[in-house]
Amino acid sequence: MKTNIPADFSFSQSNLHTYLRCRYKFYLRYIQGLLWPAQLTSDALVYEEDRNAGIRFHQLLHQYFIGFDQDLLVQMAQNDPDPRVLEWFSSFLLSPFAQLDGELNPEKTLNANIDGKLFTIKMDLLQFVDGLYHIYDWKTSRKIPSRKTLLESVQTKLYPLVLSEALSSNFPIHFHILELNQVDAPITFTFSAPEVAKSRDYFMLLTDEILALEEHEFFRTDKLQICKTCEYRSHCNRGIKAPGISDLELLDMEDYLETGNLNTDLV
Ligand code: SF4
Repeated sequence: MKTNIPADFSFSQSNLHTYLRCRYKFYLRYIQGLLWPAQLTSDALVYEEDRNAGIRFHQLLHQYFIGFDQDLLVQMAQNDPDPRVLEWFSSFLLSPFAQLDGELNPEKTLNANIDGKLFTIKMDLLQFVDGLYHIYDWKTSRKIPSRKTLLESVQTKLYPLVLSEALSSNFPIHFHILELNQVDAPITFTFSAPEVAKSRDYFMLLTDEILALEEHEFFRTDKLQICKTCEYRSHCNRGIKAPGISDLELLDMEDYLETGNLNTDLV
C-alpha cells in the first residue's frame, strides 16, 4: 500500500537525517505521527542538562544578535545554573563571530519549493555582506564531529541549497560552524554553484525515493547500533534498556530548533 505523505509535508535536515538512519523511524515519526515514550539514555539527567544548556545558549546568541545589552546577557549567563553556558558565551564573545558586519538575521527560517517539493531550514544566523550569504551554526557537542562528518551531513548540504533557491543567492555560499567546546578551530565550507547543483540532484533523488515508497518499504534499519539510541526500540522489539550518554553521536540541537519541541527526542 502506498503511503500518503501530506502534500504540504516539508523536508528538513532532521527528518531527512532520520530517514537516512532508519526508514521505519521516519515512517513512525513523520507519517504515522506515533509518539513512543522511552528514555533516550540511562544518563537521562545528563542528556537533559546538555540539551537545556544548549537551548539556553542558543537563546542568548539570538538575543545578542538582535541587539540586547551585552552586559545584561553576560549577567544572564553568569546566573545560568549550568556553568558551561557562561564558558560558551565568554568564548563566543572573544571570537571573531561576535564582531560580524553586514545584515545579520539570527534564527532565520527559509522555505523553498524545489521541483514541487517543500523544504525548510532554520539557521542559527544568516549574514549578508558584500553581496554574499554566510550561514552560521553554533554547536555545543560533547563529542566533536570531524570535518568530514560535518561536510557529509544533511545539514551542510541542505542549507546552502535551500538558501540559494529561496533567495536566488549569489555564489559562493559560506557555511561556518563554531563548536563552542573548540572555539579556536571553527570550520568553514564554501559552496560554488556546481556544488549546490550537485546537492540539488542528491536531494531530488532522495525525496523522490521517499515519496515513491510503499508502506512496507519503510523497512527497519539493519544497523542495531542505531536502535540503541532510538526511542522506538521497545516498539520494534530491539531492546528496552536505555544506552549511556557516551553512545549518543550528537546532541541534535537542530531537531529542537526546527520543531520547537522540547520533547523531540524524549518522546
Ligand atoms: S528501533 Fe531501530 S528499527 Fe526501530 S525505528 Fe528505531 S532505529 Fe528504526
